[in-house]
Amino acid sequence: MRLLIGLIIAGAGVVAAQSYEARHDHIRGHCTGKLTFDEQGVSFESATEQKHSWKVSYLDARQIQALDSGEFRLLTYKDRKWRLGADREYKLRVADPQFAAQVSPMLENRLERRFVAGLVEKAASPLWEIPAKHLLRFEGTEGVLSAGEDRVVYKSDRLGDSRTWFFSDIDHISRSDLYELTITTYERARSHYGDRKDFNFRLKQPISEQQYDDLWRRIEKSKGLEVSAAGPATDPFLALHQSLEKAAGRPLWAAAGLQPGPASQGPARTLTLPAVPDPRRIIQVESQFNPRAISPKGARGLWQLTPGTARRFGLRVDAHDDERVDPARSTRAATRYLAYLHGLFGDWRLVLAAYNAGESRVLRAIEHGGTRDFYELSRRGLLPEETRRYVPAVLTEEKEKRQ
Ligand SMILES: [Zn+2]
Repeated sequence: MRLLIGLIIAGAGVVAAQSYEARHDHIRGHCTGKLTFDEQGVSFESATEQKHSWKVSYLDARQIQALDSGEFRLLTYKDRKWRLGADREYKLRVADPQFAAQVSPMLENRLERRFVAGLVEKAASPLWEIPAKHLLRFEGTEGVLSAGEDRVVYKSDRLGDSRTWFFSDIDHISRSDLYELTITTYERARSHYGDRKDFNFRLKQPISEQQYDDLWRRIEKSKGLEVSAAGPATDPFLALHQSLEKAAGRPLWAAAGLQPGPASQGPARTLTLPAVPDPRRIIQVESQFNPRAISPKGARGLWQLTPGTARRFGLRVDAHDDERVDPARSTRAATRYLAYLHGLFGDWRLVLAAYNAGESRVLRAIEHGGTRDFYELSRRGLLPEETRRYVPAVLTEEKEKRQ
């Protein structure tokens, strides 16, 4: 159905604008207007409230969601100064039942993973299908969860709760037992640390080890990460992983009473790959080797992981336990994070920039700057000042070279 809607006029390469009647809800009352998708971006033109009109280019769209219920959300990169960390969000309601089906193919092409498909496209030949309940805070919805070659689909009878996630929309999956599955997506969560959103499912049939592993591998593969359990460390991030694992077991941080020392000496220098940052140097810059270090922003431990990142890479962080203060465990999590970032950026300067500023911030800088050169991005002011100083501080050799 959605493939039949020709937005691109053959030959001409011109994208026709699509407009929909949309409603903007206020605290009291609402206004109506026209929601338009054109070649440059998305705009809303209010018929009655001029100041509620807006226009956002696709480059400035951090996330767009079009649900089959007609709900439309657009999140921009423009930070609201009065609410740190929160971005500007526009919410509209579209009555046209074909809305999601019509705009989805166009948004998919333009926004890659920044578009969150609310539309349910049944996987062509599902690898598996499991009846499931999507757990929400107060109640859940009933539906069927299925995995396909490139996507996971949750089909619910409740309008607006069905979802299609392409593997590239999924950050990772996790589970605590065979009857539970959590899908962590790039859809923005309402809570703090809001770059990802968890969808928790209670499964009515168990997911087998094989089904779970297969899905996990496919998701990793969609990010360019080919994880093999065994085999020689031929790629740099696996080598870093192993080096860091080894380092984590060493008395340096495995024992209490960590001693700060010059990063240019000691066991970590046995790293064989020239461009790999010295993990001791990262720790020195992050925490001064203090495993209990805590930042005003809530980052903690040797590696100064945020709760969100720590959980994402396997640490327990809750009211009872905070494994970020465990040197060996947090080193393992940080290693996985660095490996993941290396899979994403393929360049250690960008990896470190992302470790400091967050990957979405760096991805956005690359997108806006049209270059993957860290120094070029820095020079043009596309990265935060702190990050511009952080990367050379960790890569001391680079600093010396540049001076
Ligand atoms: Zn309005």
